[in-house]
Amino acid sequence: MFLMNTYNRFPATLVYGKGSWVYDIKGKAYLDFTSGIAVNVLGHSHPELVKAIKDQAEKLIHCSNLYWNLPQMELAELLSKNTFGGKVFFANTGTEANEAAIKIARKYGKMKSEKKFKILSARNSFHGRTLGSLTATGQPKYQKPFEPLVPGFDYFEFNNIEDLRKKVSDEVCAIFLEPIQGESGIIPATKEFLEEARRLCDEYDILLVFDEVQCGMGRTGKLFAYQKYGVTPDILTVAKGLGGGVPIGAVVVNEKANVLEPGDHGTTFGGNPLACRAGVTVMKELTKEGFLDEVDRKGRYLLERLSRMKEKYGAVEDVRGMGLMIGIQLSGVENKSVAMKCFEKGLLVIPTGSNTVRLLPPLTVEYGEIDIALRILEEVLQEI
Ligand code: PMP
Repeated sequence: MFLMNTYNRFPATLVYGKGSWVYDIKGKAYLDFTSGIAVNVLGHSHPELVKAIKDQAEKLIHCSNLYWNLPQMELAELLSKNTFGGKVFFANTGTEANEAAIKIARKYGKMKSEKKFKILSARNSFHGRTLGSLTATGQPKYQKPFEPLVPGFDYFEFNNIEDLRKKVSDEVCAIFLEPIQGESGIIPATKEFLEEARRLCDEYDILLVFDEVQCGMGRTGKLFAYQKYGVTPDILTVAKGLGGGVPIGAVVVNEKANVLEPGDHGTTFGGNPLACRAGVTVMKELTKEGFLDEVDRKGRYLLERLSRMKEKYGAVEDVRGMGLMIGIQLSGVENKSVAMKCFEKGLLVIPTGSNTVRLLPPLTVEYGEIDIALRILEEVLQEI
């Protein structure tokens, strides 16, 4: 085995996927309620996405940002017009999108005052693994081995308005928030909290950054979670689902936050035609009439049935989420062992923080498939 030991993996080698299903090397089928951690929003081998990638591969895969390319411009326009009309920078991953946002925030602050460089983020947040994003990730377990971290960061309690107020000052240039915390157990922000964050940012001239790497791209039944809350950030970071499986990240900034100039930031692969063509296809599918409403309906269906299980089984402590981003918090039993039992029965789910099992099915999942997942989950809950 030539791979570094960086992941705890389930014992399966996946070779093929179609719709909501993946197949391992032995031919065993699994119902995929992970979507590659919120990536395969259109399911596996979606015909439009496959066609677009094939077509683009035959035209131009990469050309760098020394030149313009058509898919990059088209995807930027789609992202801008479907959000708050901002400008777009393309990266390749979620953590890179956040690194770009950190640099934008630092530059914005510096333009106002030498002292305005502090970045606030939430405890138990997750923003990525590169050093800047890792520093914004308010979880010592990920940070400790890599200290010293990037200076100038501080943390507040998620959903705690008083604590956020205490940490805010003129020295802060940005507040980073996941509208729904993903890695720490699918914990939605309260509307009041996001509204107060917005208000404080306006009062202290701070950029509000929403990391929608996980909760964006249709997951919640709106294209972006902030649209569900009605609270608009200055900077939006996106990745995962944007390419439907092809690596891509993006940062959308409003006019105020549009501070980067040539030479300030860049990446060789960012915005390459292949990834952007995939992104264009995903954006067009997600914004088709009725698609996101259907995500909302399917999410409600799933959440309602899971809530019934909560009444029935003591092991289910809480069920929460929005759209097709749902967490089942367990008690008296480990999330990892529940996920493994599901795996053995052919259902893929993700153990995550707060002893929670995370469900992130493709947004194209069918009701019949939701029923199969519910049946397997119920079997597992009966057995434990
Ligand atoms: N932000 C959030 C909210 C995430 O959930 C993740 C990944 N789980 C990241 C950032 C990092 O994304 P990536 O793994 O693509 O770097």
